[in-house]
Amino acid sequence: DPRIVIVGGGLAAVRTAQSVRDLGHRGEVRILSAETEPPYDRPPLSKEYLLDALPDDAIRLLGPSDYRALGIELELGRPVIALDTVAHTVAVAGGPVVPYDRLVIATGAQARPLDAVTGRTAAFALRTAADARRLAAVLRDGRRIAVIGGGFIGLEVAATARARGCAVTVIEAQPAPLLGAVGPLVADWLQARHRAHGVEFRCGVTVAAAGAAPDGGERLRLSDGSVLDADAVVVGVGVVRDVGWLAEAGLEVADGLVCDLAGRTDAPDVFGAGDVVCHRTEHGLVPVGHWTAAGNSARRAAHTLLGLPAPNLLDDGFFWSDQLGLRLQFAGRADAGSEFVVVAGDMAADSFVGHFLAEGRVSGVFAVNNPRQFLRSRKELRAAQESTTVREVLR
Ligand code: FAD
Repeated sequence: DPRIVIVGGGLAAVRTAQSVRDLGHRGEVRILSAETEPPYDRPPLSKEYLLDALPDDAIRLLGPSDYRALGIELELGRPVIALDTVAHTVAVAGGPVVPYDRLVIATGAQARPLDAVTGRTAAFALRTAADARRLAAVLRDGRRIAVIGGGFIGLEVAATARARGCAVTVIEAQPAPLLGAVGPLVADWLQARHRAHGVEFRCGVTVAAAGAAPDGGERLRLSDGSVLDADAVVVGVGVVRDVGWLAEAGLEVADGLVCDLAGRTDAPDVFGAGDVVCHRTEHGLVPVGHWTAAGNSARRAAHTLLGLPAPNLLDDGFFWSDQLGLRLQFAGRADAGSEFVVVAGDMAADSFVGHFLAEGRVSGVFAVNNPRQFLRSRKELRAAQESTTVREVLR
């Protein structure tokens, strides 16, 4: 059986390892992770883990005995720095090269840095469990928290910080948070919900610079000339895919590692899984970026590397978000110009399901606190997708 080496230490790495075992692979499986703590789930980092400081065991993807039982060698603190596709080896910082027969690249992404606040002592990113622990320590009653970026993670952090008694301001470059992702109607509804919970918004502005505030903390200078003082600044402006270490490897790299839908790169025996991947599709490059898609891409890569046909998993752009006690669920896409039509429940009652309709066709589904109807609508969406494009991976 081929020796399988997986580079990365998140969901995609673990799901790939589990899947090859599920598929009956008996040879070596090694995970080389840059992190020093065992793989954990990231969604709780902006939610329960940040709110309640859950025990670390609660976010682990597998327990220590699971790795042993599955025969997965988990090697922590092993950042891979280079790949030689001809010699079939990867180089690990400070260690000997590691040979592979099949290699899976699952290095995920990092929080995108924001130049204006880089290096400021009270600036926080949120990608790792260590980031979450550092941030949780400052989310105390009465603290002033500025969240830069009104995306899903920024809004989850804003809601969590309010729940911990902080005074929260979200700074968003667009006229409303999440406008591109969910369209104006839903974006306005969500912003109103946050306002009702005491979150303040500064929309249509960016952060131009940061310096020390007179009474401690940071003073942010905004693009409209105003200033905002905060005890802590959380940056949630998207991610950068971790492909820097592949610079010399000769693989096609765009906004991420370019793979086909089955997980193949353009080098033999090298595969990609999870957030690091950009899928090459007939509609152009489509990045992976959510939990379900990351797990699905790992399962497909596991099949492919073992020479099995990749399963046609449902990749419909599904993701969820929990904020303000609301469960948001989304699938498909909210195309610019599409109309949002509520098909069940009531937006004013914070429980509803709506369809994004473009040219009479459902392109996306958004639900709040209504998982049953969401499932039904998601099936409808799938039917609409299958009638047009089969095996399309949505953005
Ligand atoms: P990652 O989780 O980024 O893991 C990559 C791993 O590879 C890391 O451990 C990293 O240290 C390691 N690594 C990187 N470079 C190297 C190297 N050179 N050598 C060795 N190891 C390396 N999605 C949803 O659908 N719903 C949500 O509610 C949701 N909430 C989220 C909240 C937060 C705070 C975050 C950060 C993400 C959230 N996501 C959510 C997204 C979801 O967590 C990701 O899609 C998922 O983590 C992707 O897994 P991955 O394994 O591909 O990448």
